[in-house]
Amino acid sequence: MVRVRFAPSPTGYLHIGGARTALFNWLFARHNKGVFILRIEDTDILRTDESSLESILEDLKWLGLDWDEGPNTEGNFGPYFQSQRQEIYPKYIKILFEKGYAYYCYCTPFELEQRRNLALSEHKTPGYDGRCRNLGSEEKKKYEAEGRRPAVRFKIPDEGKTEFRDLIRGEVVFDNKLLDDFVILKSGVSAVNSGRGGLPTYNFANVIDDALMEITHVIRGDEHISNTPRQILLYRALGFKEPVYVHIPLILGKDGSPLSKRHGTVSVGWYREQGFLPEALVNYLVLLGWAPDGIRQILRVEDMIKEFIIERVSKNPAIFDIDKLTWINSEYLKNMDPDKKTDLVIEYLVSSGAICSAPMSDVISDSVSEASELHRGAEKDKIKEIVNIIGDRLKIISDIETYGSFFFTDEIKYDETELSSKLSDEKVRKGLAVLKEKFASIMFDHQNIEQTVRDVARELGLKAKDIIHPLRYVLTGKTVGPSLFESIALLGREKTIARLKIGTDTIF
Ligand code: GLU
Repeated sequence: MVRVRFAPSPTGYLHIGGARTALFNWLFARHNKGVFILRIEDTDILRTDESSLESILEDLKWLGLDWDEGPNTEGNFGPYFQSQRQEIYPKYIKILFEKGYAYYCYCTPFELEQRRNLALSEHKTPGYDGRCRNLGSEEKKKYEAEGRRPAVRFKIPDEGKTEFRDLIRGEVVFDNKLLDDFVILKSGVSAVNSGRGGLPTYNFANVIDDALMEITHVIRGDEHISNTPRQILLYRALGFKEPVYVHIPLILGKDGSPLSKRHGTVSVGWYREQGFLPEALVNYLVLLGWAPDGIRQILRVEDMIKEFIIERVSKNPAIFDIDKLTWINSEYLKNMDPDKKTDLVIEYLVSSGAICSAPMSDVISDSVSEASELHRGAEKDKIKEIVNIIGDRLKIISDIETYGSFFFTDEIKYDETELSSKLSDEKVRKGLAVLKEKFASIMFDHQNIEQTVRDVARELGLKAKDIIHPLRYVLTGKTVGPSLFESIALLGREKTIARLKIGTDTIF
């Protein structure tokens, strides 16, 4: 039975790299009909915060990465928050002491730092030098008397190598000499005696939890590969069965450095707010390192689950490319049911404050509620038409702002220079004034509007485009947008005339 986990530390928002790790774990579990566990590694009290935790859970749900065991989904291996597992760890510290794999270290952070700097200045490896490995009881007493609170370190064998087979990287070998005795319990130890005190470190708690949760495959980012030999040595010291390791390649920015804030926004929440679709983001994330055949780019989740062979994940780093993500998103939008697309646009417009949400029916009387239902229905139909004329220009939901904001505002903000240049020709100004008059009495549909605009242009000896561009700018405040005549019809007679008046008054 495959059991995998995603183990975020809630010290910040879920970012693209974390989401891809979660996705690969989830796909691997679903492909193998296994179990996907969400474990929260919240032992770093100073950096952990509640809002990060909530947003990570929200983002995972939004991406559709549901967990079989974890927060709010209890299984038989909980608790799933490391902060609630503190009573579990001392037992294993004790076993390590008994087997001779652990020792107290009284070095202070200041002393460690000093020795580190010295080693660096002498061009030596700056790891822990093993000073407290063989302290006598007198020395220990002396340190205790000084009030030092020891940490606990794990003894790395002096000789030999630690090897493992990674499903993506193949054989990986670390020389034990290059690993130092790492801290497993932070200073403040009375843990062994009383079950309380210093907190376990990541490397230690991670191993205990993986072992007790019977994790079969550890799938995580390449940045953790140097932790792996340390963790394997812990597994062996404690007699636990080792999991299979899978280190997935780094994600880089276009400049070749690891993807970070420098490359733009990397939090999943941001993509969500911008109106990227979860299915498109999942589709894009899966291609960061994996491709079923190198040809298909658009993959449904069902196909990913069916075809996800983890060994086929590339060893090479993946490059994050927002243009490709946007393209994938536009492909999903192109094929989306218009009603669903409209609902997403409405949701976006409500959250950006461009439109108000309709009143809640349970707080108003029945008749008002019926009226508001009707109103809501009419509004939705209108927004659906707007979405329809914008068509494939809508590559992400927030493009509604670029191409449709003028429908939802009462005031257009013009760029004065642009407006003056658009209206610099006297004939154009005259044309717009005539249109303002004519629009008051024609049947206000897009054919009549188009006919009227073309007639006015011809009568003034202008080409149609000479008047269409200024007209668009005056009505929308933009130089590009969806079909102008359909936009005018949807904007409505009243707003059109008012804008022609305001726009042209600025100049006349
Ligand atoms: N809490 C660790 C992290 O967020 C988990 C690493 C692992 O998967 O072992 O990086």
